[in-house]
Amino acid sequence: MGDKNREISIVVIGGSYAGAAAAKRLAALSKKGYSGLKVTLVDKSTHYFHAIGFPKALVDAEYAEKAFLPFSAFFEAGSKHEFVNQKLSRVVDEHHVELDNGQTLYYDYLVLATGGQAPGPINVVGRTKEEGVQEIKQLRQGLDNANSVLIVGGGAVGVEVAGFVASKYPTKKVTLVHSRNRLLPENFRQGISNGAITKLGRLGVKVILNDKVEIPSDFGYASNVGHRVLRGTTSGNEYESDVQILAVGFKVYTEYLEPLEASLGQSLRVERSGAIRVLPTLQLDAPMLPHIFVPGDVNNLPVSTKFGFKAEMQGNTAAGNIKKLIDSGFDKAFKGKDSAKAVAAAAPAVGKWTDYIDLILVPMGPDLGVAQVLKIALGASGIANFLVRQMKSKDFMLGMRKSYFPMTKKAKRE
Ligand SMILES: Cc1cc2nc3c(=O)[nH]c(=O)nc-3n(C[C@H](O)[C@H](O)[C@H](O)COP(=O)(O)OP(=O)(O)OC[C@H]3O[C@@H](n4cnc5c(N)ncnc54)[C@H](O)[C@@H]3O)c2cc1C
Repeated sequence: MGDKNREISIVVIGGSYAGAAAAKRLAALSKKGYSGLKVTLVDKSTHYFHAIGFPKALVDAEYAEKAFLPFSAFFEAGSKHEFVNQKLSRVVDEHHVELDNGQTLYYDYLVLATGGQAPGPINVVGRTKEEGVQEIKQLRQGLDNANSVLIVGGGAVGVEVAGFVASKYPTKKVTLVHSRNRLLPENFRQGISNGAITKLGRLGVKVILNDKVEIPSDFGYASNVGHRVLRGTTSGNEYESDVQILAVGFKVYTEYLEPLEASLGQSLRVERSGAIRVLPTLQLDAPMLPHIFVPGDVNNLPVSTKFGFKAEMQGNTAAGNIKKLIDSGFDKAFKGKDSAKAVAAAAPAVGKWTDYIDLILVPMGPDLGVAQVLKIALGASGIANFLVRQMKSKDFMLGMRKSYFPMTKKAKRE
């Protein structure tokens, strides 16, 4: 309502799929008449890491270097929007967040897009490009020197990693152990699991289903390289290997919500997982705070939504809803005396996120792959190899991410 050019502060925490999509779309508004709008993007890392491309980065040092894109290149030069390289430590209240360095940021709208963390180096743990590249290199060197490799977890990541390791090192013994009776996410068809087993077999990977590998408590990230014997708890089998890669153990870290939970007197997260509860509009499930959005892997939507492209779609929905709230004058009214009225008026303004795409592309090395597109499973077929090669295997869609970082060349020169 009215004065589009009023001062509006939007803080986006996390600059990966969900956060980057939201931040880009919102920052673009300042060129469309919303001249007082400022987006502050906060990320604990100096660079975005293209985790989707990890299976390729693991076996291809040149690609690994390219898979880190600097956040300093995210906003156009001269724009008022800002990147802050800090970790969010606390959401203090309905208008402030506090960062690890003690800095407090004011927000009219907040996007929490802190995603999740698989164990390093599958999701690199280091917070700079140098540290991340080093983590992957260490594992790659471990593979170079190994005779045998054990991969635990037969979801998409485990299957892709097994395929790329076996393609790169055809003489090494590669074993993939999965606790379920089929590979790949179970919301997809059996045909792609069968196809993956056939194609991994062609690459010499031994696939073992229905066995849960016991992960010793001292199994930190660093101990992935080194001879170990792990035990299958279901079968009693012993798996001996020189390198172990865990493609299991995804976690979210959302303790930063504790102060807000304390002041509201209510929990905002799922107790067991820590995932943040959201409404279908991707707003935080706290009716009095309609200006906080939670897109991407950190929210409690089903596991079938935990994909990069869906996190990106959610980031766009969150940004679209924030624009609708801005247009309705929400932030102005919320700061005023009658915030309850502002909250009541906000509800009809926003729209729901719909998960309408059903797609998975799973490369296993540069030549083989399985896919499911619009309920059609492409498993053991040659068409699947062709499709996955064309759409994913070459650069794992890194090219598409680069458009988010237009100032990369300038950032490298500085
Ligand atoms: C190895 C691997 C392969 C994958 N392959 C595919 C694939 O082929 N296709 C696909 O669609 N999906 C794939 N995924 C899943 C996909 O990567 C995730 O669904 C996606 O990254 C989720 O995006 P997000 O923005 O929600 O969170 P994330 O990508 O997890 O990003 C969260 C961001 O927030 C930052 N952050 C976290 N906590 C804080 C904090 N407290 N303060 C400040 N910053 C913080 C992090 O540094 C990070 O930049 C893969 C995942 C992995 C690990």
